[in-house]
Amino acid sequence: MTDQAMVIEGRRWATSSSFDVVNPATERSAGLAPDASKDDLEAAMTAARRAFPAWSRDEERRRALLREAAAALSAAAEQLGAILCAESGHPLAQAVTEIYGASIWFSYYADLEVPLESIELDATSIAEVRRRPLGVVAAITPWNYPLVLASWKLAPALRAGNTVVLKPSPFTPLATLAMGEVLAEVFPPGVLNVLSGGDELGQWMTAHPIPRKVSFTGSVAGGRSVALSAAADLKRVTLELGGNDAAIILDDADLDEVADGIFKGAFVNSGQVCSAIKRVYAPKSRYDEFVDALAARAGAAVMGDPLAEGTTLGPLSTRPQYDRVLGLLGDALDRGAVAASGGAARDSAGYFIEPTILRDLGEGIAIVDEEQFGPVLPVLSYDHVDDALARANGTMFGLGGSVWSADPERAAEVAGLLECGTAWVNTHLALSPLQPFGGFKWSGIGVENGPWGLASFSEIQILHRPRSSTT
Ligand code: NAD
Repeated sequence: MTDQAMVIEGRRWATSSSFDVVNPATERSAGLAPDASKDDLEAAMTAARRAFPAWSRDEERRRALLREAAAALSAAAEQLGAILCAESGHPLAQAVTEIYGASIWFSYYADLEVPLESIELDATSIAEVRRRPLGVVAAITPWNYPLVLASWKLAPALRAGNTVVLKPSPFTPLATLAMGEVLAEVFPPGVLNVLSGGDELGQWMTAHPIPRKVSFTGSVAGGRSVALSAAADLKRVTLELGGNDAAIILDDADLDEVADGIFKGAFVNSGQVCSAIKRVYAPKSRYDEFVDALAARAGAAVMGDPLAEGTTLGPLSTRPQYDRVLGLLGDALDRGAVAASGGAARDSAGYFIEPTILRDLGEGIAIVDEEQFGPVLPVLSYDHVDDALARANGTMFGLGGSVWSADPERAAEVAGLLECGTAWVNTHLALSPLQPFGGFKWSGIGVENGPWGLASFSEIQILHRPRSSTT
């Protein structure tokens, strides 16, 4: 059990109320988290605004402190990973790996070289294209990868010269709060403030007059609400939202390679990944063999105690998500889908659902049309690639997608026609700090990562001036 404190103005901040965080593997308490009041939020916003002028003016110091932050996170990986494991149910080794992932994002943005751009207008004048920070950023994160997704926001926001107020999900606030304490040793007071509370705290943040940007990762419904609230005073927004990624298998694909890759891309973190594979389109001529190969991998997965060595799949991280996935699964089975593996919850404590491959179903069933965000994968059959493409694109989601073939050129041609932010060939979920990530349609607005993600935490300022005698 761990009881964490919020971090405001560089110190642990006492609150009058707290809430219980549930360990999804045991359904017992994982610890208490502080429940921020409006006064606590006011203190955090004011601290962030006060810290902004000095922080925004010294880029070399910011880069040096981002490097220190990366080192501090790596040093605390075991400690933070254990807290994350308890509150999220992620297998321990994967939880520790997530902390190293967050560290990598801080290193990347510390080291990123940003070339100065200028436009030579005529013989006498030049326009320098500068990037100025926005001010205070409100960062709001979901429960599925709390630390690495926070790092996607914190590292570029801080590198660009902004200060931040961060709020994790009420389901998994503890490791983020602990990270706030680790980073309070690195950054000057007020530069990074971490608060916990319910969804209403997120609403107060987006409506608050101080932040000039909201960077939000979460559900489509949450993103819509954030966009509406931010519009009132024209805050900038980046929205990273839900997905319903399709994987299209072409008829020449290698059975084992594809089954391994698709199983991993669909079931990592028990399917609770925004850009996990959530629908598979297999050619009718090879439908049975792909279903059977995927079912064999699901049957071999080791689902269970996140602390036990060898566990590959943990529970669903939250009770509402567990109920939702079971509801979608039950509905699909009622409508004639067949479970080629799994098909039920585990009869024990914890939010465990057996890794499930569903066959003999199509569009019009909720588990195909909506984002299931859990360890249940529908496999659909198709006759022609054009038909598979149209069905893959026939949704308002547009986060990722993939095409699998023995001929990567042929697959790349099809992948280029997917309507989504990331289209992979013979892989899925390959992510990198160098590579921008974002969604089409309802899956988001804007991108994170790479120089593009950094740019989204700044305004362009043109400095139009006479050429100096040396240029
Ligand atoms: P959620 O929208 O319920 O909550 C996300 C965060 O927003 C939480 O901190 C929550 O407290 C806060 N929040 C909720 N309503 C809010 C509001 N009206 N205003 C301000 N803040 C609000 O999402 P979740 O259930 O925590 O996360 C799962 C969802 O996140 C899935 O749909 C998943 O696909 C998506 N996701 C997207 C990405 C991506 O990069 N595109 C990454 C991870 C998860």
